[in-house]
Amino acid sequence: MVDATELSYIIALPKVELHVHLETSLRLRRLLQRRDPDHPLIGQVHLISDPSRFAGYDRLRRLRYAERANRLPDSAYTRANIAAITAELVAEAPGQSVRHIEVRVGGQRAFSVLGVRGMLEAMAEGSGEARRLGLSYGTIVTVIRERGPEEADRIIAEAVAASDCAVVGVDLAGDEENYPAGLFSAPIARARDAGLGITVHAGEFAGPAGVWAAVYQLGASRIGHGIRAIEDPALLERLCERGVALEICPTSNVRLGLVSAMSTHPVGTFLKQGVPVTINSDDPMLLGTTLSRELACITRAHRLSREILVNLQVTAARAAFLPAKKRESLERTIRLKT
Ligand SMILES: [Zn+2]
Repeated sequence: MVDATELSYIIALPKVELHVHLETSLRLRRLLQRRDPDHPLIGQVHLISDPSRFAGYDRLRRLRYAERANRLPDSAYTRANIAAITAELVAEAPGQSVRHIEVRVGGQRAFSVLGVRGMLEAMAEGSGEARRLGLSYGTIVTVIRERGPEEADRIIAEAVAASDCAVVGVDLAGDEENYPAGLFSAPIARARDAGLGITVHAGEFAGPAGVWAAVYQLGASRIGHGIRAIEDPALLERLCERGVALEICPTSNVRLGLVSAMSTHPVGTFLKQGVPVTINSDDPMLLGTTLSRELACITRAHRLSREILVNLQVTAARAAFLPAKKRESLERTIRLKT
């Protein structure tokens, strides 16, 4: 582990979290359990299958299934409950010195029970706490590749119409291998034209071609994970030139078996080559992590200096889906406190 002084430094460093999922069902389960430990609707979590027996995207699905089996009833998906779990996620941010957070949501259940607009309104209400806690907040709407471009277009149209609900961007996620970026050009263009930021989960379970496509076909300014960009030196150069930031989530990559250990994570090479890198927590409840823990793990494994730790946060501030003035003031906050 990094020593205690270094850990205190990491915790106190002003941070920007760009890649964190709301983890709707996990948080709702915890909320109901806390209110009533004997809640008849909750039941026990069943480990149906051992995620370690599966690889790649299938492992992610198994991991989520194992954690979320015995699903919550529709009645758990109320506006008040969604507002409560969003408020809880925001309330955890000051403990990590997070000054700006972008929370992504793509829950099929939540969208179908509350409607896209209902879900986004509930999250906006829950995120109201952010200002009082001294941080800025934005929602990113995730659309899932395997549900096809029509559903993506419908959800994005509703997200664009919900500009009063703190929506700042759109994220494309899911099965990269079988549902390539090109299928989603039209819906993503709709989001881009409306001024929303574009981030794409790519180069995680499939190779560098998906990262090229995300940048050139979808105009993504950020890539979720993108770790397999390491296989293509020309792509790394292009990411540097265009200032496309990678949203690296170290524990997620290790737990899903995409890299064998923190010490072999390509983040060290990305940093050496000047690729814009940000560090994020992805699914902190599922993975049992925090943003500070992610930074500590990477610092220990790759011997990062304090200067690099500050630069990671400055890069994240510059890549945030915020107006230019707010990005600049976020950057100043980071530099002033360090
Ligand atoms: Zn993710």
